[in-house]
Amino acid sequence: MRFAILSRSDHKSEAIKSRVKQYLADFSLIYDEEEPEVVISVGGDGTFLEAFHTYKHRLKDTAFIGVHTGHLGFYADWVPEDVEKLIIEIAKKPFEVVEYPLLDIKIHPVDNDQYKQFVALNEASVKSAEGTVAMDVHIKGAHFERFRGDGLCISTPSGSTAYNKALGGAILHPSLNALQITEMASINNRVYRTIGSPLILPKHHVCELLPLYHDRRFLITVDHYTEMYDNIDRIECRVSDEKIRFARFRSFPFWKRVHDSFISDERT
Ligand code: NAP
Ligand code: MN
Repeated sequence: MRFAILSRSDHKSEAIKSRVKQYLADFSLIYDEEEPEVVISVGGDGTFLEAFHTYKHRLKDTAFIGVHTGHLGFYADWVPEDVEKLIIEIAKKPFEVVEYPLLDIKIHPVDNDQYKQFVALNEASVKSAEGTVAMDVHIKGAHFERFRGDGLCISTPSGSTAYNKALGGAILHPSLNALQITEMASINNRVYRTIGSPLILPKHHVCELLPLYHDRRFLITVDHYTEMYDNIDRIECRVSDEKIRFARFRSFPFWKRVHDSFISDERT
């Protein structure tokens, strides 16, 4: 079996990377950064996002594993002390796989139909580079609201514990094939009105964001990447047809990860 390791590049992560690399080679696994079947990320959730985007072109053939060298992460959920156990499990194969939904984003320009397509593991967000974000929000092809405010965040279930949570969104279990729309400081008065609540959309319910003014520039983030765009006709968001696959070797329920990350990592 072929594997690759991506590290945050700090001292601790690099040391664990070389240890894991050596151990797996001892089990006759092949280090292959081009076409790995297993990708191990060593660092934090940010490092895991990097690993995901490095190998997003081969999601069907890749299973991901995250080891954290700082605090417990949502993707990086293995402690360095357990890597020996982890390596034995990987070497044993076959292993069980758990799939989480992803977000599909298409940015359509005004003047042609050459849209840009992205896939997000956490979320996409739309903010303004100048002034207020003003856009019409369409859901399933029908006008829903005219949004004015700082921006909107469209997140995956596993991304619901990240930016979405800071915006007052709900935490969604990743077994739900859905996306969530949360507002950033919407303007609400007698003239402007938005729903104000986070919305959760099932698969196939497309959300489209249509800027009112085409000459405005927008900052669009996809996970940890940000890019500036102008001349946007519309931004289409939907639950992706693709999923991320995690290699699963032990039980670590999502709600326990939520508890240990946000409430306490002690028993009581
Ligand atoms: P960062 O600025 O280091 O990330 C912010 C924090 O989010 C870090 O503590 C990171 O964990 C954590 N995180 C990432 N994915 C998560 C998830 N699915 N659930 C819970 N926490 C998560 O930048 P980054 O590490 O490259 O991560 C990019 C992400 O930051 C974006 O996708 C967005 O979700 C998030 N973000 C949050 C806010 C906010 O909360 N106000 C604002 C902008 C962006 P690690 O320390 O383990 O990397
Ligand atoms: Mn980070």
